[in-house]
Amino acid sequence: CSAERETATTAAATDAGTEPASTESAATGGELIGIAMPTKSLERWNRDGSHLVELLTAAGFKTSLQYADNKQDQQNNQLQNMLNDGAKVLVIASIDGTALGPVLDQAKSQGATVIAYDRLINGSENVNYYATFDNYKVGQLQGQFILDNIDQYKGADGSINLEPFAGSPDDNNAKFFFSGAWDKIGEKVTSGEFTVPSGKAPKSNEEWQSIGIPGWESAKAQAEMENRLNSFYSGKKVNIVLSPNDSLALGIQQALDGAGYKVGTDWPLLTGQDADLANTKAMLEGKQSMTVWKDTRKLGEQVAKMVEQIIKGEEVEVNDTETYDNGKLVVPTYLVEPEVVTKDTVKTALVDSGFYKAEDLGL
Ligand code: BGC
Repeated sequence: CSAERETATTAAATDAGTEPASTESAATGGELIGIAMPTKSLERWNRDGSHLVELLTAAGFKTSLQYADNKQDQQNNQLQNMLNDGAKVLVIASIDGTALGPVLDQAKSQGATVIAYDRLINGSENVNYYATFDNYKVGQLQGQFILDNIDQYKGADGSINLEPFAGSPDDNNAKFFFSGAWDKIGEKVTSGEFTVPSGKAPKSNEEWQSIGIPGWESAKAQAEMENRLNSFYSGKKVNIVLSPNDSLALGIQQALDGAGYKVGTDWPLLTGQDADLANTKAMLEGKQSMTVWKDTRKLGEQVAKMVEQIIKGEEVEVNDTETYDNGKLVVPTYLVEPEVVTKDTVKTALVDSGFYKAEDLGL
């Protein structure tokens, strides 16, 4: 909105360098809310950040929005600056959720409330709330999609070759995504119905980090997939790729393209998460079979509501008080439901809801 103006707290640098980091509104309150996002390199965090600023500004708060180039040290400095500027609430999507201890201690001593956003912060008692999508369910939706659709992707000889991937080893969510999926399809690997030619199948959910892609980087997923295809697929085709999110799925698509896989003949079933624009386009082209859509607008609305409840001293709405143990306490959580989107539901789910415009997708 044109009435917005930058305040002194806009000065801190972001990884893009140009983020309008703070806005002030004419409405009541005016308390400073710090919003710390991991990186601008993944589309969803840009949407998450700007939407939160919009909602909180409309509710009468000042905001400081910062991106940390996927570096926890940088995020910790940003959080410290927000606290020095008097932030009353910190909304934090962490990078390494185990490495925020001291800055959260500072938050506690200043009486600031901490909301872990999307990713749980571990090992600190100074985490007041958690707001996220149901991360285990994300993995279950991916695993169930594989079970429901495998018949179309089997090899002519009935073979089902699977290559599983997991998310960044330092991201607490990645564990939930993998467990949800593996609880659905892991037994097919154990029973021999699915084969993993690369051998990169964790023996148990706890070993998911062994196939984790650091930093959720597309290029690293691409290199890993190329390596698996080059080393283990002579005379074979991959039929299913379990990818926990869209950034990994993009890299995997590049590797499949490079190895000569073609849509409509031997392109495998490939999962994803986030409904990023490039991946949504890839679904329309047949290069990605599904994505788990997390309507980040819903998460933002819930968090903006939580912030208002905290500032007004009202009871904060949560819907899960049992699941998210961070090693120090079970953090009161609000879970939002994720949903599967495929080529056939792109229009009804993503366009009709206004998440994308038809022309963004060439529809
Ligand atoms: C988020 C995903 C995202 C991934 C990579 C996870 O913590 O929940 O939505 O794809 O991080 O940024």
